[in-house]
Amino acid sequence: MKKDTFGCRKSHSEPGPGDGGRTGSWRVRRPVIDPEKCIPAKLNKPACFTCWLFCPDSVIKRTIPPTIDYEYCKGCEICCEECPAGAITMVDETEFIKKEK
Ligand code: SF4
Ligand code: SF4
Repeated sequence: MKKDTFGCRKSHSEPGPGDGGRTGSWRVRRPVIDPEKCIPAKLNKPACFTCWLFCPDSVIKRTIPPTIDYEYCKGCEICCEECPAGAITMVDETEFIKKEK
């Protein structure tokens, strides 16, 4: 248990990947990162990571470029909305089903 600046104990928890449960088959669109536009990929160094900061399910890793765990991604589109470089596109899941066949 952590202590605050006054030495008081307080409970503390942080969100972790998968806290919201597995996605299953209900995600309609998935976020896809374009490394040609993604800032850390273009600079080849840790930068930006706005998508990581805003993802409510903590499923984005701060790799170069960032990686998304589709097992738990809900397709909420927040990362896509917040990306300052327009590097994330929401793609219909049907596109991936077609490729898998
Ligand atoms: S927010 Fe966009 S530019 Fe920034 S790291 Fe994520 S995908 Fe790349
Ligand atoms: S779509 Fe939502 S859950 Fe999936 S990576 Fe983006 S912000 Fe996270």
